[in-house]
Amino acid sequence: MNSLDQRCPCLSGDTYSACCARFHSGAARPPTAEWLMRSRYSAFARGDERYLLNSWHPVTRPERVELNAEISWRRLDIVRTERGGLLDKEGVVEFIAHYRENGIAAQQREVSRFLKTDHQWYYLDAAPDSLIGG
Ligand SMILES: [Zn+2]
Repeated sequence: MNSLDQRCPCLSGDTYSACCARFHSGAARPPTAEWLMRSRYSAFARGDERYLLNSWHPVTRPERVELNAEISWRRLDIVRTERGGLLDKEGVVEFIAHYRENGIAAQQREVSRFLKTDHQWYYLDAAPDSLIGG
């Protein structure tokens, strides 16, 4: 089975090709902060460092993203969103990302901040004091 036909890692219910693939390939831009969040989670799950860097706001973008091969991403729960819509310039998405590291279940909870610049959403950073677990 081609990975394009498999369920998207963000668990939207669609196949990867009908979901985050268009964002990862650059064919489309995530229309909302939540979609950028979902596509970044999928990029983590697929080990797509290039997309993670490209979707990071230039102001806070690191040199590179260290992808831990011991981690397998299992599920993304969107807890809440603030703004981040089609007409907004900034947004907040709180999420819980479930993963297994060396076979042990764990989760990362974060309140992520997003900015839209030149009609494109970018991940800015984690809101201070938002990191729980990990
Ligand atoms: Zn997806």
